[in-house]
Amino acid sequence: MSRRALITGITGQDGSYLAEHLLSLGYQVWGLIRGQANPRKSRISRLVSDLSFVNGDLLDQGSLVTAVDKVQPDEVYNLAAISFVPMSWQQAELTAEVNGMGVLRTLEAIRLVCGLDKSRNDSSGQIRFYQASSSEMFGKVVESPQHETTIFHPRSPYGVAKTYGHFITRNYRESFNMYGVSGILFNHESPRRGAEFVTRKISLGVAQIKLGLQDKLYLGNLDAVRDWGFAGDYVRAMHLMLQRDEPTDYVVGTGCMHSVHDAVRMAFEYVGLNWQDHVVIDPGLVRPAEVETLCADPSRAKAELGWEPTVGFEQLMHMMVESDLQNASREREFGDLILASSW
Ligand code: NDP
Ligand code: GDP
Repeated sequence: MSRRALITGITGQDGSYLAEHLLSLGYQVWGLIRGQANPRKSRISRLVSDLSFVNGDLLDQGSLVTAVDKVQPDEVYNLAAISFVPMSWQQAELTAEVNGMGVLRTLEAIRLVCGLDKSRNDSSGQIRFYQASSSEMFGKVVESPQHETTIFHPRSPYGVAKTYGHFITRNYRESFNMYGVSGILFNHESPRRGAEFVTRKISLGVAQIKLGLQDKLYLGNLDAVRDWGFAGDYVRAMHLMLQRDEPTDYVVGTGCMHSVHDAVRMAFEYVGLNWQDHVVIDPGLVRPAEVETLCADPSRAKAELGWEPTVGFEQLMHMMVESDLQNASREREFGDLILASSW
């Protein structure tokens, strides 16, 4: 019988790639959809056929119990979140509710449906749980590169809430012998990345400028450094983590550092333009507390999961610009605002 997976955050970047990956492995896949007539449901349905859906919201405990009970999954991937760091200062309480308490509610739903209590002394036959932890938990880094035991110093309400989600997952593992793991994933991007994140903002901006649809690209801190990889690679790591006999947390990244400035240069060079003619620094885009530099040490994931990234950063930026050039030319042709929802 094929295995069953439930994915929260199905309408997001990672949800789409993970669903495709699990379906290709023969899983039956359900996506948790929130809200009435969520417009992103039709977008993911168009992109990924053979998906099933179940209603639920990370803010609503009862809906999560009902969803888990209905799907009876072998694996639950909790990808749902307020994922944009600047938004987390504007809606700090909501971020804590979704990214922090939402993890607890999902764990509780699994615990209730499985009837787990603290007397349980093995994790066999249980629903396995994946939590989307983040390199933003490292924040103001004390050592570089960052690995599984590097101390956390989150720098935003997003990072703080993710840190709660990380530790409550570990606590349910230790308290109830639940099979729960956190993937501490570094930034990962793709042509499906939200338009507000810097790589996609750059690829969209460059494509629009190249086709004469805009002239300037407004950015914040060009000196920020990240370890950027391709989302399609990172969802393979999520799945591999849940196949281990023992639940363990893993850092996932490339181990390579690039600045926002590098991303700008690569994207403009790809279309034969000079970035200095178009990029404008907007101080309003600089964050109240910045995470200056992040770099993964993915050696445990490589050694124990056999995981390797397949797409380098320059290739990734080119892939994103190429995709947005097609989107922008459709926009120019049809005069349609299709860019942000281009997939
Ligand atoms: P996206 O922003 O693309 O997707 C977020 C998803 O969360 C959407 O499907 C959204 O659904 C859903 N969601 C938001 N609020 C709720 C809620 N209250 N109940 C149910 N669903 C909700 O994120 P990504 O795909 O990029 O990231 C996936 C996960 O990985 C996130 O948790 C993110 O924080 C984490 N992460 C991402 C990294 C990256 O670089 N991409 C790095 C490290 C961690 P809706 O359509 O209803 O809005
Ligand atoms: P994050 O690492 O999850 O916050 O991912 P982002 O893509 O949002 O930001 C990555 C880095 O790019 C951060 O250090 C930002 O400060 C920096 N950055 C510089 N200019 C911009 C911009 O215009 N938009 C965004 N989103 N980030 C920017």
